[in-house]
Amino acid sequence: MTTTTSVRHDIDEIMPGVIADRRYLHAHPELSFHETETARFVAERLTSLGVEDIRTDVGGNGVTGLIRGMGAGPGGSRVVAVRADMDALPIQEANGQDYDSTVPGVMHACGHDAHTSMLLGLARVLLDRRSSFAGTVKLLFQPAEELPPGGAIGMIRDGALDDPNVDAVMGLHVASDIPAGKIGVRPGPASASGDMFTIRIRGKGGHAARPQSAVDPVVVGAQIVTALQSLVSRNTDPIESGVVSVTAFLAGEAFNVIPDTAELRGTIRTLNGDVRDLLERRLVETASGIGETMRAEVEVDYVRGYPSVVNDTAMYHLVREAAIDAVGEERVMELPASMGGEDFACFSLERPSFFFMVGVGNEDRGITWPHHHPRFDIDEKGMAPGIATMSLAVLKYLERGV
Ligand code: MN
Repeated sequence: MTTTTSVRHDIDEIMPGVIADRRYLHAHPELSFHETETARFVAERLTSLGVEDIRTDVGGNGVTGLIRGMGAGPGGSRVVAVRADMDALPIQEANGQDYDSTVPGVMHACGHDAHTSMLLGLARVLLDRRSSFAGTVKLLFQPAEELPPGGAIGMIRDGALDDPNVDAVMGLHVASDIPAGKIGVRPGPASASGDMFTIRIRGKGGHAARPQSAVDPVVVGAQIVTALQSLVSRNTDPIESGVVSVTAFLAGEAFNVIPDTAELRGTIRTLNGDVRDLLERRLVETASGIGETMRAEVEVDYVRGYPSVVNDTAMYHLVREAAIDAVGEERVMELPASMGGEDFACFSLERPSFFFMVGVGNEDRGITWPHHHPRFDIDEKGMAPGIATMSLAVLKYLERGV
């Protein structure tokens, strides 16, 4: 039997357990930074499987563990980490499945229940064949992907990538807009950085009929909103991507009163750190400059969210090959970059990394609701190809590196 056939066979055997774990986790979701029971569940599973060096409370509710290969081979000193996120969202589930959330107002509406159970499945597959590979696999169960500053940064600060030093990191995300059975890959920037800004404008309120004695923050705000539209079109390289969206304009309430203040809120998304720096700087300059010209005080509060996930090119080739082995070339898709955010990015800044998408949609069964929707669900048939791709990618990495 080839490695591919035997890995796929092993995964078929464990899938009932993976699905049961996924449904248990789905029924018992926990919000970001509150994943204590999920972490306990994971740690217990890892203990009973025989995973070594299990550490809990890593950067919050993070859990890590090691699988040491005992085979011979060149990969003996290599360490590759695989990450799954564990948190759920503040959404009231509206599915009506027997594994629906039992927690009012909290739901696994992004598929992190699948990620956690799939990583537990991967652990089983690799433990069962550890006499056949050399090198070490580090399992990273991460809390708080959904809520900036996120859980990845805390795990990294707490040493999740050290002792033993991790050479590369891989992660996956299920996707309801990709049919189950398909795998999506992309080299280079894969998700956007997502930053938030608040612009506070202090003018001088007064009677709407006497604008000459007021400084109207509504007009100042309107000028700023308009000027921000040229940040991307006139400041960044047209080859690069960027979005500046003003999503809130809060000011005044009466027909005949010029208010004292106005507040703008919005977000900046980019696929490149330099573009991100440029847009932040120009946002502050533009807003402050307009304020100065129009005699208003302007204060900009800029909060950096997740950076952009950047997929290592050599790892892209390796994972793509693993995906082709797992599902066949016709079911491996080349994906465009997404302007959504993902804190796997923090790992990709630290080590060569790869993050890929696993199809879990199924139009015939009506499983097409978007992520973060009260009716989001997955076709569980998509999980096995995801575990197979990850298992084969890990084994390839340990065997030959990149
Ligand atoms: Mn997610």
